[in-house]
Amino acid sequence: MQNDIQEVLISEEQIQEMVKELGEKLSVEYEGRNPLVICVLKGAFVFMADLIKRITVPIEIDFMAVSSYGASTKSSGVVKIIKDLDVSVEGRDVLIVEDIIDSGLTLSYLINDVLKRRNAKSIRVVTLFDKPARRTVDLQADFTGFVLPDAFVVGYGLDYAEKYRNLPYIGILKPEVYSS
Ligand code: 5GP
Ligand code: MG
Ligand code: MG
Repeated sequence: MQNDIQEVLISEEQIQEMVKELGEKLSVEYEGRNPLVICVLKGAFVFMADLIKRITVPIEIDFMAVSSYGASTKSSGVVKIIKDLDVSVEGRDVLIVEDIIDSGLTLSYLINDVLKRRNAKSIRVVTLFDKPARRTVDLQADFTGFVLPDAFVVGYGLDYAEKYRNLPYIGILKPEVYSS
C-alpha cells in the first residue's frame, strides 16, 4: 500500500496539529451550545473521530452517507442519500464534518436540499481539505484545514476504489495505480 504512494503531501504530524487547532476554534465557536455534529461518510470518518476528541463543548453525533465518485476520481454531479440521519435537525446547531471539498456539489446538496429544508437552526461546515480551484458551485467552508492543489489525493479516510483510507497521511498515488 505504501508503495503505491508517489508523494506525501501532508504528514501525519501536520494533520494532527491542524485537527487540534480546528477543535479549539470549534470549541470557542460553540461555547454554551450543544451542536449536532454530522459526519459525511465514508471519507470524513477518520477526521471526525480525531476532531471530536478536541471539541470541549457537549456534542451529539450522527452520520450520513451520500453517493460520491464511486471508483472514479471525478464527481458525477448526482448526489444521492445512501444513509440518512437518525435524529432530527430541526432547531439544532448543525456542524457538518467533511473530508474534502472539491466541486462542492455534495455539500451544496446537503446544505440546501436537505438540512435547510429540515429547519436546522444554524449550519456550519468544517472541512479538513479544500480544493478551491475545482469548485463548480459557490460554496465555502466556515472552517478549513489545508488548501490542496488540483490533484487526486488519498489517505486519512480518503479512498481510491475503497483503498488507502487507513493511511495516516495524505498522499498522491503513482500514475500506474490508476492504469493497472
Ligand atoms: P465534491 O462533491 O465537493 O466534488 O466532492 C465530494 C466528495 O468526493 C468528497 O467529500 C470526497 O469524499 C470525494 N473527493 C473529492 N476530491 C477527492 C480527492 O482528491 N480524493 C479522494 N479520495 N476523494 C475525493
Ligand atoms: Mg466527503
Ligand atoms: Mg471516495
